[in-house]
Amino acid sequence: MELRISKQELQELVDEAYSKYKDNKEGKNADYIPYLSRVNSSLFGIAVTLCDGDTLTAGDCDYHFGIESVSKVMTAILVLKQYGAETIMHMIGADATGMPFNSILAILLEKSHPSTPLVNAGAIAAVSMVQPVGNSKQKWQNIQENIDDLCGSETAIIDELYKSESVTNFNNRAIAWLLKSYSRIYDDPDVALDLYTRQCSLGITAKQLSVCAATIANNGINPVTGKRIFNASLAPRIVSMMSAVGFYEHSGNWMFTSGLPAKTGVGGGIMGVLPGTFGIAAYAPRLDEAGNSVRAQKALRYIMNKLGANVFSDRIITFKNHKEPVTY
Ligand code: GLN
Repeated sequence: MELRISKQELQELVDEAYSKYKDNKEGKNADYIPYLSRVNSSLFGIAVTLCDGDTLTAGDCDYHFGIESVSKVMTAILVLKQYGAETIMHMIGADATGMPFNSILAILLEKSHPSTPLVNAGAIAAVSMVQPVGNSKQKWQNIQENIDDLCGSETAIIDELYKSESVTNFNNRAIAWLLKSYSRIYDDPDVALDLYTRQCSLGITAKQLSVCAATIANNGINPVTGKRIFNASLAPRIVSMMSAVGFYEHSGNWMFTSGLPAKTGVGGGIMGVLPGTFGIAAYAPRLDEAGNSVRAQKALRYIMNKLGANVFSDRIITFKNHKEPVTY
């Protein structure tokens, strides 16, 4: 079942979603990280990047917000690249926990591996695996370079956020050391925790997140820069992880109602991937009780439902004035 639309029509739909939810005041900013509680809650942006590299936007798409847990996807890609899917499956896993992102109980229940690189435990384990193990400076360079490559432009740490998060991340410290007791952390736990906190403190825009999502949708080739960032065989692996746990304990409901594999962050960003079609991102700081942005999820769900697009359906979206996708 094919839906053929023009980019203009998609732009109109993005604008419609923006106006529909712009004034929604549900939820509240994350407050367990003091910096996030002070961010202007009225910010809101939606960006879609197609597989030919064109980006459509509405609202605040150039504002740099804390990437937070969306960065877990990028670093999962990095370790998948460095170790291969089989090793990541064995050392971390790809299961949904069905529990909050920072759950200690999830670690206790699943001693043999931290479940998935898309919750805190697995993400800290993933950071600990980043090569070269034991060289934190080079590890950080590799983590940031990978994120910049996926986004097609540079990112920078929001210093105030990094400080704010570093002095309040007691729960994550407990996670890092609990992983150590199960031999499920593969570098110094304090170093892994610091690098994880740094990656969560990177400033990112909705536009950059949509380009990163489009790189995944485009099987590893960044459609804006034309650079291959990861092997095409990894794309379905990462999309499956996003579907399983991208909205934490609400992942099932999210997939059921939107059909969009996506990953949220407590900074208010969400990044979604519709393979072969587009990458989509939205940003709004107010969160629901599971830590997922309220307006961002409403906007993305609205766009997906209006298009009738769904990763589980046979609907194919094609664009009337599409440029040739970047391929080798
Ligand atoms: N840095 C945050 C934390 O570890 C990220 C959580 C999130 O975005 N869900 O608590």
